[in-house]
Amino acid sequence: MLMQKEREEIVEYGKQMSAAGLCKGTSGNISIYDPETGYMAISPSGIGYFETEPKDVVVMDLDGNTIEGERKPSSEYGLHIVMYQCKPEARAVVHTHSAFCTAYAALNRPIKAVHYVIGGSGAAEIPVAPYRTFGTPELAESVKETLAKSDAKAVLLQNHGLVTCGPKLAKAFSLAVNMEFCAEIQYRAECIGTPCILTDEQMAEAMLRFKSYGQTAKPEEGKDGMGY
Ligand code: 13P
Ligand code: ZN
Repeated sequence: MLMQKEREEIVEYGKQMSAAGLCKGTSGNISIYDPETGYMAISPSGIGYFETEPKDVVVMDLDGNTIEGERKPSSEYGLHIVMYQCKPEARAVVHTHSAFCTAYAALNRPIKAVHYVIGGSGAAEIPVAPYRTFGTPELAESVKETLAKSDAKAVLLQNHGLVTCGPKLAKAFSLAVNMEFCAEIQYRAECIGTPCILTDEQMAEAMLRFKSYGQTAKPEEGKDGMGY
């Protein structure tokens, strides 16, 4: 089977994504991209994360052709392809319907720098891609146009959810977790007052520190702003 290891990782993180409450039912999807073959392994459409097995994961190329797999790929394969095209350093993409991110997406309001961890996205603000029907080339195009104006590795999908990418699946996943945390803090702070938004200077300093954060921090690992 092609991309066996990647298939297993997608199954494992699907369970984590579901258990962490980032997705209800079969919502959301996950992919991993291998630049050597040009293939992407992506979760199947509409199968529960605890029922999905490695053989259900579909291998596709970035033209949207299925290379291997019996199942129908995620309906959002076009969205995943666009993420790899817009962010050449990305090796994994995570799409969620996590509640607080989706609440801001429903308001068509970006997530602001209410907490420094937003800097893990590589930007101080998470933009909203205008609403398009799920699973369509139009939604992928909407995200592409939004990313053309932003450095963020995360985008809110209006009235839909969140999409993130990273240099490996663990990073794309933790970015989705951290964006949900930021959205929750923004929501809670707005419930009781007006949150202070970190300045560009404060965010620039925090993002500099991300480069040396953690146990394995080497300058080259932090370069892409996804080191958190
Ligand atoms: P799939 O089950 O086809 O991956 O779709 C879930 C989803 O979130 C659509 O936006
Ligand atoms: Zn979705």
